[in-house]
Amino acid sequence: MYRSMMLINGERVEGASGRFDVIHNPANQEPVAEVAIGDVIDAVKALEAAQHAFPGWSSVSPKRRCDLLHDAADLVRERADRIAELLTVEMGKPIRDSRREVLSAADSLDYFAEEGLRNIGDWISTGDTRSIVIKQPVGVVSLITPWNYPVELLAWKAGPALAAGCTAVAKPSSLAPVAATEFVMAINDAGLPPGVLNIVHGSGDTVGAELVTNPISRKISFTGETSTGIWIMEAAARNLKRVSLELGGHAPMIVFDDADIDAAASACVRRAFGNMGQVCISVNRVYVDDAIAEDFTEKVIRRTLGLRIGDPLDPEVDLGPMVSEAQRRKTREHIEDAVNKGAQILCGGREPDGFARGYYFLPTVLKDVDHTMRIMREETFGPVAPIMRFCGEEDAVRLANDTQYGLAAYIYTNSLRRAVRTAERLEAGSVGVNVGSVIDHHAPFGGWKQSGIGRELSHRGLDEYMEIKHIRLGL
Ligand code: NDP
Repeated sequence: MYRSMMLINGERVEGASGRFDVIHNPANQEPVAEVAIGDVIDAVKALEAAQHAFPGWSSVSPKRRCDLLHDAADLVRERADRIAELLTVEMGKPIRDSRREVLSAADSLDYFAEEGLRNIGDWISTGDTRSIVIKQPVGVVSLITPWNYPVELLAWKAGPALAAGCTAVAKPSSLAPVAATEFVMAINDAGLPPGVLNIVHGSGDTVGAELVTNPISRKISFTGETSTGIWIMEAAARNLKRVSLELGGHAPMIVFDDADIDAAASACVRRAFGNMGQVCISVNRVYVDDAIAEDFTEKVIRRTLGLRIGDPLDPEVDLGPMVSEAQRRKTREHIEDAVNKGAQILCGGREPDGFARGYYFLPTVLKDVDHTMRIMREETFGPVAPIMRFCGEEDAVRLANDTQYGLAAYIYTNSLRRAVRTAERLEAGSVGVNVGSVIDHHAPFGGWKQSGIGRELSHRGLDEYMEIKHIRLGL
């Protein structure tokens, strides 16, 4: 069985407790890896190693950091097949998607390698003084990540942190720590000085909490549930630490009557069911103009029924299992609640036949839904597309904004005016118009309202790891 160790100060280590956890494959519940479990002592050791490495790493030239990050990206690509396989067997993502995730993580490292070179400040002349404004690395940072994109989301943090000159301690989710750890090992093996990037395992309320509260770490970059983010922000406030919080989402998709219905239906199926709906920018609510609702719904169902469900290691498979029984149960509960309040299941709504083991669930399309239902208000994090009709632009925008979340939103329309008008009125950090994804390394990503604080990706993502300093010169 595969053994996943922690990395502290450049050394692969067991935790102080010597305990190992076993990770089971969600597709068949077989054990796939043993994971060294850390506790608070390990978290402190990792933070101290990062603190010790900070003066050296922050004074290395940006060009040297850039070269090392490119080397790390190359090594991740070289090891992509292996990392992708571990990712698939620990959390159930189809192998094609796992490979795409790992390669995209390598691209993030390349992107931030270059972005780190553009550390540009200001020079301001004011008569007999000059003001120089520079950006400097924040210090030691804690990087805490969830299980649904364990490699890519870590790359979005480790890339800018290292490029900025910060040193870091990462803590992946206990549900899926293995591929993330391999990713960190690859970065380290590219020649990073010891202690610059560390990874510790363990539960959020022990190891995670230490990374949040220990004064050595100056900033917390967290991706996960809104409730955890709120706890982290409160705990960080005691030391006035910087926080970046990428939290839950409940993305609406609005399909107007002038949309390309085929394109909208296909994006809806991809975005609602990809990774079994376990994506923060999944389509969670579909609002379709009454005039085209029937046609659109029929197309969504046809495409949904064409999805191949199976062993996620099979490269032909579109959908694997969900990550855990808890996640599947929550999906079932949300569907039951909707049905009890009047929703109709058009397809799915249960486990597929022939999968006695593993956390499989059929992609589900619902109609006759409304905002009294949990599925329209809470993050299901499961493969469900609830379709609701609207009458007119005003109604669509009101429904889309009727949520505590504000991460992503999608619009399908062929009217440029309507696209701009609607996009500007939606309360979300990212709006996709006639596209089914809002992720681009060059553009900022983050949430409004209870979906978070701060931005990842783009030059703004790098700024999150920098402090600003004004040096005033008297002449
Ligand atoms: P959780 O909030 O449960 O956990 C995320 C990470 O935080 C895990 O590593 C967890 O450790 C750790 N953690 C838990 N409690 C604490 C604590 N008190 N202090 C420090 N760390 C802690 O989220 P999930 O893993 O369940 O991920 C799913 C959630 O992530 C969804 O809500 C989803 O929307 C969100 N998400 C947001 C994204 C975005 O960019 N906005 C992207 C992807 C997901 P452990 O689990 O090991 O105990």
